[in-house]
Amino acid sequence: MKPHLFILFVPFVLSLSVQGQGVTVSAPNNVIPRGDGPTIAAANALKSQPSAISHEDTNTPAPIEPRIITPGPVGGPPSDAIVLFDGKDLSKWKNAKGADATWTLGDGYFEVKPGAGNMFTKEEFGDIQLHVEWMSPSPAKGEGQNRGNSGIYFQGRYEIQVLDSYENKTYFNGQAGALYGISQPLVNACRPPGEWQTYDITFHPAKPADDGKIQPGSISVLHNGVLVQDHTEVAGKTTAASAFKDAAAMGPLMLQDHGHKVRFRNIWVRRL
Ligand code: MG
Repeated sequence: MKPHLFILFVPFVLSLSVQGQGVTVSAPNNVIPRGDGPTIAAANALKSQPSAISHEDTNTPAPIEPRIITPGPVGGPPSDAIVLFDGKDLSKWKNAKGADATWTLGDGYFEVKPGAGNMFTKEEFGDIQLHVEWMSPSPAKGEGQNRGNSGIYFQGRYEIQVLDSYENKTYFNGQAGALYGISQPLVNACRPPGEWQTYDITFHPAKPADDGKIQPGSISVLHNGVLVQDHTEVAGKTTAASAFKDAAAMGPLMLQDHGHKVRFRNIWVRRL
């Protein structure tokens, strides 16, 4: 036997397996392989893959690389978003009777058509991330709840209030960014009427569980980039003027016709 093939310690236990992207190498810590050939290759594998952990070793799932998506322009839809309004048409929306949405289409936006009723997405959603931009009518008219009122109803059940809350007092859990009647916003981040505003919202519905109880969900809201709802519990109790009762795993998004000409644009959603 050539000297460089000599193995210093016997027995030496070493196994090398490649599964997917993971490499498993095991060897007693006090054994140092000497020589070349498979033994050196295995030692090099051990050296070059110090952080590779297989599920055989840890009983945890093998890591999966996060999907690569292309982020959109600032505020715009990323590549895995469902665009609900791109400024051109209302084809993703319907009215309460299932007919075509008839809200007023403008140049890159649409506007509540008072009396036309609420508008619903044709698609239903569960856990989502939502981006919406909205604008209160200018000049402002009315006071309190009677100024620039609309709303975004998750699953047609839970309203995040849309209201002109710029220098306009109302009850706190009814102002812009409130989970209506349930949770007031952490701060008032409202812009003046006539300016576009953003909501970026993460929503997890309350879901019926197998035991008949309701598993609570949550909602987090950024208003103009400012946190106004921080993982607020969605217990399953629907908010005022909801289109449906009782918790459900899925439901449509609904925009509220409260009789005020609130505008919307750039609406997109990601399923979570
Ligand atoms: Mg409302």
